[in-house]
Amino acid sequence: MPKPLRIYNTLSRTIEDFKPLHEDKVGMYVCGPTVYNYLHLGNCRTFSSFDIIFRFLTYCGYKVRYVRNITDAGHLEGDRDEGDDKFAKRAKLEQLEPMEIVQKYTQYFHDVMREFNCLPPSIEPTATGHIIEQIELTKQILANGWAYEVEGNIYFDVAKYSQDNNYGVLSNRNLADLLDGTRELGGQDEKHGRLDFALWIKAKPEHLMQWQSPWGMGFPGWHIECSAMSQKYLGQQFDIHGGGMDLIATHHTNEIAQNCACSGTGPARYWMHTNMLTVNGVRMSKSAGNGFLPDELFKGTHPLLEKGYSPMSVRFFMLQSHYRSTLDFSNEALQAAEKGYARLMSAMKLIDTLKTDGDASAYIQELRNKCEFAMCEDFNTPIAIAHLFEGVTFINNVNDGREKISVADKTALKKLFYDFVFDIFGLKEELGSNNETLSDVVKIILEQRADAKARKDFASSDALRDKLLAAGIVIKDSKEGTTFTVVG
Ligand SMILES: [Zn+2]
Repeated sequence: MPKPLRIYNTLSRTIEDFKPLHEDKVGMYVCGPTVYNYLHLGNCRTFSSFDIIFRFLTYCGYKVRYVRNITDAGHLEGDRDEGDDKFAKRAKLEQLEPMEIVQKYTQYFHDVMREFNCLPPSIEPTATGHIIEQIELTKQILANGWAYEVEGNIYFDVAKYSQDNNYGVLSNRNLADLLDGTRELGGQDEKHGRLDFALWIKAKPEHLMQWQSPWGMGFPGWHIECSAMSQKYLGQQFDIHGGGMDLIATHHTNEIAQNCACSGTGPARYWMHTNMLTVNGVRMSKSAGNGFLPDELFKGTHPLLEKGYSPMSVRFFMLQSHYRSTLDFSNEALQAAEKGYARLMSAMKLIDTLKTDGDASAYIQELRNKCEFAMCEDFNTPIAIAHLFEGVTFINNVNDGREKISVADKTALKKLFYDFVFDIFGLKEELGSNNETLSDVVKIILEQRADAKARKDFASSDALRDKLLAAGIVIKDSKEGTTFTVVG
């Protein structure tokens, strides 16, 4: 077992030795998507990062219970209980039932996770499947005196909680700072304090997703679901809690407060957060017009993309940044990743064909140690990849006759690459644009299409494009010519 594993803990803002609560077992909870819209790329990065963490913990010999929830109710537009219910609003827009919205976008989420080759979590609980647990937790917080009721709404009392607890412990901000960042309460506000947040929200009669509770018909607040579900499946205290860093200030801060109000202890010992995405150095967001969806990235249909990039090229691209660093998307960087991934796959294919006329050496074990050490140091994938590429150079050298390898070392080399590339990094071989035979065939079809276009036979050229699309090959015309991406 490669140890010691060290993890950056947002709570202490330092890298700490990882000591699980129960020897050889790890409980990990990651905040999942709110399934009211297409999954955005920031989420893909977060879930891919935790997928690699899950995979590496398993490689280290831990038995991991990985819980990732689905938020399918109770999330208002503003994280601080403001605005419309996200599901109700989207349902109105798409003229569907809220649960049809949930079904549609849960399906989409699972499809994207499969494309990125993310393993399913051990348990994937939904908020609507745990209404009773959320009501129970709310009752307990009320009974302990940390919450109050106003006309069917239950609010968490942050001022009272803060008398004995540090509410801003996760974000490392004091109460005055946090208050500065929130708006003044208006006359119609029923909350006692600006930072108070809803545990239970009274539903208007027309609200489609509402449940019976001791306080009348309503629905749970967003934050209480994660406290309820993590406690149910991982216990009052567990090892790792993760999510995107945008969750630190409100969602995770409130989760800690809820848990402490119930059981006197925060839920997790290690809090891990993934950083955000940028595009050509600018923060990725819908409002900036640079927030492309996974599908747009795979097919190259967003105006900022020169071409499409296959899911494994994107996964490899993500691995090249540490999960706590920002990840900057640009066509150059994506194309470099595409080449790097192809180089890695080609080298792996060579391993079986290497001649074995060398003497035993410690080189392969040293390489494995270096890769393990990088991953043990807060899951440093870019450094581990850099070491693997030393191995790629070695493979190519042996193939060219510049270096030699023994039989045993060749077996160890293959195992090292399979362990890291497939099992830990979760990459897989793709029948993609890098497949030479397929690439040649598509090029022949593209030439025929270009001929048809030149003859102004647009019916034939469009038919070829559509047939390729039906076969999972998306083509994109530009000034420089036509490129294609395999997405099927
Ligand atoms: Zn959560």
